Amino acid sequence: MRWTQTFIPTLKEVPSDAEVPSHQLMLRSGLIRQLMAGAYTYMPLGYRTVRKVAQIVREEMDRAGAVELFMPGLQPIELFERTGRKEAFGNVLFNFETQRGDRQQHFALGPTHEEVITDLISREIRTYKQLPLTLYQIQTKFRNEERPRFGVLRTSEFLMKDAYSFSSTLEELNDIYDAMYKAYCRIFKRCGLEYIPVEAESGPIGGDASHEFMAPAPNGEDYVVRCSGCDYAANQERADTGRESTIPSASSDAAAPETIDTPNAGSIDAVSGMLKAEPATFIKTLIYVADGKTIGILIRGDHEANEGKIRRALKASDLEMADEATVEEFTGAPTGFAGPVGLKCDFIVDHDIAGLPTAITGANSQDQHLTGVVPGTHFTFTETHDLRNAAAADPCPKCSAELEIVHGIEVGHVFKLGTKYSESLDANFLDAEEKKHPIIMGCYGIGVTRVVAAIVETCHDEGGIVWPEAVAPYTVEMIPLNVKDESVMEAANGIYDQLNYAGIEVLIDDRDQRPGFKFKDADLIGLPYRMVVGGKGLKEGIVEIKRRTDEKAERVPLADAVTYMKDLIQGD
Ligand code: ATP
Ligand code: MG
Repeated sequence: MRWTQTFIPTLKEVPSDAEVPSHQLMLRSGLIRQLMAGAYTYMPLGYRTVRKVAQIVREEMDRAGAVELFMPGLQPIELFERTGRKEAFGNVLFNFETQRGDRQQHFALGPTHEEVITDLISREIRTYKQLPLTLYQIQTKFRNEERPRFGVLRTSEFLMKDAYSFSSTLEELNDIYDAMYKAYCRIFKRCGLEYIPVEAESGPIGGDASHEFMAPAPNGEDYVVRCSGCDYAANQERADTGRESTIPSASSDAAAPETIDTPNAGSIDAVSGMLKAEPATFIKTLIYVADGKTIGILIRGDHEANEGKIRRALKASDLEMADEATVEEFTGAPTGFAGPVGLKCDFIVDHDIAGLPTAITGANSQDQHLTGVVPGTHFTFTETHDLRNAAAADPCPKCSAELEIVHGIEVGHVFKLGTKYSESLDANFLDAEEKKHPIIMGCYGIGVTRVVAAIVETCHDEGGIVWPEAVAPYTVEMIPLNVKDESVMEAANGIYDQLNYAGIEVLIDDRDQRPGFKFKDADLIGLPYRMVVGGKGLKEGIVEIKRRTDEKAERVPLADAVTYMKDLIQGD
């Protein structure tokens, strides 16, 4: 491809509204342009990489036994009503009514395709003999994200590979899940993307029902907990904390807690500032309503409550923070002053509360706190639970080494769904005894366009992008230094033709620009190999070849240039 014939509008300046490196670099190197918040055009260079990533995904899906199909993005809202996801998605689901002839119709734009594919399967599959079956597509998804941001990392319209498996037994589901998991590892490896598979939310069938694939990156919106000593890694929401505790017994010589005034200080930060005491010496008492029953949750002041864990500890299906009136009714104070001493509802206790010799708590009275509260003495409990998010330096649940927290970008997700969709959409199979069962499903997503952004986010230096070869828009950039010099252009065009003939993807920068300008753009767009053809070099019979990551170029005889480049590419 000739630069002058394609469309690569590079930018010298960093666009002011782009906060993260991938957004900045994708704009600057002319890979994407914004249409409106959350919607981007993939420019010719960017779209080449999107297609390469999609192709890698496709090859690995095929290899794992999945079969490609293509479903509509436009979907009837009724399907989402039947699965309850119209409500669950809320505003994230693009849905709208429109007039068709004399009828009003209500549509959704697919945020994923569980509904459409399960409906299809419900009509086509009859018996276990037709199972298992795994289908996938690479298709545009629509989500009305509250905050589209970071360029194409989070958009309202994005390309996803979504696969769905249908099986008649759990063993079949587990086998497909494993095959998908392995395919995901191969995909990210081939894309040159560092990744960590992490345990995510556990599903209706328990166990490791879900894994997310995270690309570690400082700007990632997800928090990943990983062990410094073994391979344990989990989403922070899911991570077990590996702590245990001994229930403290009552101490007879503990002084009574002291009530102190904390006017208008209803948050741990405010009170800890006022009392000059570390948040870790506080007990936070959060008031929740679980399946209609009011309950207090005690966690240490420096920790974050984890609603998933709280729900599991209480075996509750419905959990929400109590409203102001309920808080007043059970604590006798507005929100911010609750504490275990004198609380008028039951409470459960996080493991770390047991280890506090004494603590500061709310006094269940407006603008007052208690100091010197001794767990086991001033309030009692018989068991403790894991109720909070894991934090750095917690012990690993597998090996007890210290956990660390890293930021990650979720690039893929595999999930054992169970029968949630098959039950609500009547997708059943008959077993060998002609008995009817709901089909057991799994779903497996990769954000293709997000993968592209994650690669740029993690593969760049000061000069620009450093593409992994398998996903680079082109493999080689050729730079003739002076396009007005006929001998230079003749040599450059000769090599260009030969490289093309050898099946190597070459971009030749045939613009009439100064060398420095072209070198800067070459670093910015970041193709893996560069070949410079200049008048001076030609007089000595050489061209200069280097990798994007090499400091210095190699001087290679003109006659050997093509072979040298081919060997270099194959050697890497
Ligand atoms: P997130 O937590 O980042 O919002 P999600 O868990 O809702 O993502 P899934 O439903 O698991 O996303 O979708 C599968 C994959 O699609 C994700 O792993 C991610 O790679 C990609 N993806 C999801 N939302 C977006 C988005 N708004 N823009 C780009 N890619 C996305
Ligand atoms: Mg997800």
